[in-house]
Amino acid sequence: MTSRLSRLAVALVATAGATLAVTVANPAPASAAMTICYNTSQAGSFAGTANQAASIWNNATVNLTLSANCGSNLRIYQITGGGSYAVRTSLGNGRVYIDTQQAAQYSPLRIMTHEIGHILGLPDNYNGNCSLLMSGGSAGTSCTNPYPSSAEASRVSNLFAGTRIATERSTDRAGSEIFRDSWPSTLTPVG
Ligand SMILES: [Zn+2]
Repeated sequence: MTSRLSRLAVALVATAGATLAVTVANPAPASAAMTICYNTSQAGSFAGTANQAASIWNNATVNLTLSANCGSNLRIYQITGGGSYAVRTSLGNGRVYIDTQQAAQYSPLRIMTHEIGHILGLPDNYNGNCSLLMSGGSAGTSCTNPYPSSAEASRVSNLFAGTRIATERSTDRAGSEIFRDSWPSTLTPVG
């Protein structure tokens, strides 16, 4: 009886070992998404706009997830004057500044998704095409499209392919890229 039980135990251990071996042979998918924590504590009236922009990017892309107030990979600021711009310290990390004066002329959501696009690795493309997000203000104030084109979204997805959870923040400002002047002023100079 004891020996039968022993053989059963050996069989069970062998089965468990086989299961473990199968698990090890199938590692986690390479598509694990990088989490980009964005912080709206200084976004003022644009906090809701930032949430909308995050949803747009999350719906349009794979390999990354913008998540609210779980950390500070990306800080959103409300500013007045000087123009909206983005500072990318590294892919998925940086700061976005939204100018209230420009947001009164251009679509605030388009500005937000565009500037976040810089943080996600996209450059400007001032070709006046409203179907592109990165054409920015070159498409005019009547263009309110807040969605990246399929090509723009694919480019971001590809840039984040194979990345893991964002646990590092770049502290080396020498490597920062600054994207300015995406939204030409339409104000008539006074005086
Ligand atoms: Zn830009």
